[in-house]
Amino acid sequence: MLQQVNGHSSGSDAQGRESLREDLQEFLGGEVPLHQLDDLTKVNPVTLETVLRCLQARYTADTFYTNAGCTLVALNPFKPVPQLYSPELMREYHAAPQPQKLKPHIFTVGEQTYRNVRSLIEPVNQSIVVSGESGAGKTWTSRCLMKFYAVVAASPTSWESHKIAERIEQRILNSNPVMEAFGNACTLRNNNSSRFGKFIQLQLNSLLVPRDHQMTGAAIQTYLLEKTRVACQDSTERNFHIFYQICKGASADERLQWHLPEGAAFSWLPNPERTLEEDCFEVTREAMLHLGIDAPTQNNIFQALAGLLHLGNIRFADSGDEAQPCRPMDDGAVRTSALLLRLPEDPLLETLRIRTIRAGRQQQVFRKPCSQAECDTRRDCLAKLVYARLFDWLVSVINSSVCADPASWTTFIGLLDVYGFESFPHNSLEQLCINYANEKLQQHFVAHYLRAQQEEYAVEGLEWSFVNYQDNQTCLDLIEGSPISICSLINEECRLNRPSSAAQLQTRIESALAGSPCLGHNKLSPEPSFVVLHYAGSVRYHTAGLVEKNKDPIPPELTRLLQQSQDTLLKVLFPADPEEKSQEEPSGQSRAPVLTVVSKFKASLEQLLQVLQATTPHYIRCIKPNSQGRAQALHREEVLNQLEACGLVETIHISAAGFPIRVSHRTFVERYASLRRLHPRAPPDPHSPSPDEGHSEGSPHAEQATLRALLQDILHTLPALEAATPAAP
Ligand code: ADP
Ligand code: MG
Repeated sequence: MLQQVNGHSSGSDAQGRESLREDLQEFLGGEVPLHQLDDLTKVNPVTLETVLRCLQARYTADTFYTNAGCTLVALNPFKPVPQLYSPELMREYHAAPQPQKLKPHIFTVGEQTYRNVRSLIEPVNQSIVVSGESGAGKTWTSRCLMKFYAVVAASPTSWESHKIAERIEQRILNSNPVMEAFGNACTLRNNNSSRFGKFIQLQLNSLLVPRDHQMTGAAIQTYLLEKTRVACQDSTERNFHIFYQICKGASADERLQWHLPEGAAFSWLPNPERTLEEDCFEVTREAMLHLGIDAPTQNNIFQALAGLLHLGNIRFADSGDEAQPCRPMDDGAVRTSALLLRLPEDPLLETLRIRTIRAGRQQQVFRKPCSQAECDTRRDCLAKLVYARLFDWLVSVINSSVCADPASWTTFIGLLDVYGFESFPHNSLEQLCINYANEKLQQHFVAHYLRAQQEEYAVEGLEWSFVNYQDNQTCLDLIEGSPISICSLINEECRLNRPSSAAQLQTRIESALAGSPCLGHNKLSPEPSFVVLHYAGSVRYHTAGLVEKNKDPIPPELTRLLQQSQDTLLKVLFPADPEEKSQEEPSGQSRAPVLTVVSKFKASLEQLLQVLQATTPHYIRCIKPNSQGRAQALHREEVLNQLEACGLVETIHISAAGFPIRVSHRTFVERYASLRRLHPRAPPDPHSPSPDEGHSEGSPHAEQATLRALLQDILHTLPALEAATPAAP
């Protein structure tokens, strides 16, 4: 049906028989050893258990990729498999007449998207959604796909264009180590865990060489950087890689300049003794240079980061008198931090420990000493503010370095590497946002897939009734719907800015949304919380701190302080623009609408979905075989949880409910026509029109008649063929 006809003929009868034997063997089932089943829709019956058995058999046989209908399942090998990602293999998939006939691989998806972009009729943008839990291999997969495009989409014709092409591809690839140094960290689940979501558009141009696209640029969009990590890390985890890189890789001169003596202890730098391959400062610097971030600018960045490390060493002691501000326990940390961030020392200290409040008609300014806990919060907030702005600025610099002139590209392939569905013992606003995004992506996936199948069958005139698939719109209504949803209620609390306990928020959510079938039954829980029944499982969200996180308040004094910095980089990050006011006034008297974390996330998610909806999507589900990162160990329970969480069995059911074999009429004829000569056909029924008569060649009737005839022949051939087929081992 929809398969592309590539014009190559299967040749001899022997080849035709061989192809048929393979196909039949595959579709008759049973005889194919599990590890050889390339597509999970062919396990029989399709259950979690059989799917798991198949994946396990393949993993044991070092086969890491398996199709699941329209999705590719990628098991993390947790060991180097260089032959699986060699440029030679990339070229093999690129050159194959039918890459989907080769072993399942991310390169099949890569090549498919590349060919789809090269559509004959009109350019069609493509997207690849890579999902899975932390450590499952999403970033690895995205990186590999980028390398794949860098190899296959680099087909320059002249030396000059070769130079340009190489430079842009290299730059795009160089964005990875930089983004990872600043946005990834070692966590319990992954030594190189991305603490942000990323959508990268690889821009292609087919104007120069119409049949071969060249990568001319890229655009990167990031989501939800986990900025709290800069000031707050679990004792078993680490801060962002870049801090360790500086501390380990700085030269003697730099150490002096950045006040980073060998062996210095920083409270925001836990577990410095752990050595990771991600700690390589040189790689980051080199990549930054390639992206046009010169040595003096790099120096500014690293100096500011060293300033943040010293900021983290500032500790306060209560003065014992509410009217008196807290005392810093170590003046040296304040001094060094101010020096490195090029901030005036006294205002820095003042801002950290004294709150200014405007009140009354005249907006009089009151100064209130902060408690020790408030001082700590303000210190952390300052660091988060600097780091988040720095990260965003870096992304914009990278974008301007890799972005192509709009006139130089015609289509794009988008790669989405986002956090997968998360459910921890303690879930908060971050998990709510992540799972909300996953609900949206799942809805997009189901809608696209069902629609695609329906359209295909309708075009072919096939009778088909769809299983009534449970859409997840109800859950999305609960989370984001209007007028009342979880998001709107949390936003409302922020807007009203009223003192409200975690228990009150729970009650408000549960009473206002009691009618939603996706609001789970909240069994007695020691902490205030609510339960959402997601498509991938139920998650309990704790309400403590939710509203505050959603506000993400930035005391305006902090921004004003940073605007006083004499550092060239900080001047760029915090321009002294009078309009650049913080979104919130301390007394909550500002009537300007507050842009909450949830609102911003919702807006960027909607934007992303708009982009995705205008593309042909492809899906790669990464699965982590075990949580220890061990090679050759597949823990059934863990994999089962992930299969459930990504709705894979559901997907396979949808795929398997459709017609499993899709062959174009022409390919079918090319492949099996030879068999007609093996077995004389039964004499035609004098009452029915001959397949070859009465219809013009190429008409749907003629094609159907030919197909019917061929199928009859094949059925005649079957017994002989089976007798000739050696039994499978
Ligand atoms: P995620 O982005 O899903 O959190 P990563 O892509 O960072 O996960 O992968 C985690 C780790 O797993 C990598 O650092 C790497 O060691 C290993 N890994 C992932 N995919 C592969 C692969 N295809 N081959 C070898 N190792 C892999
Ligand atoms: Mg990642």
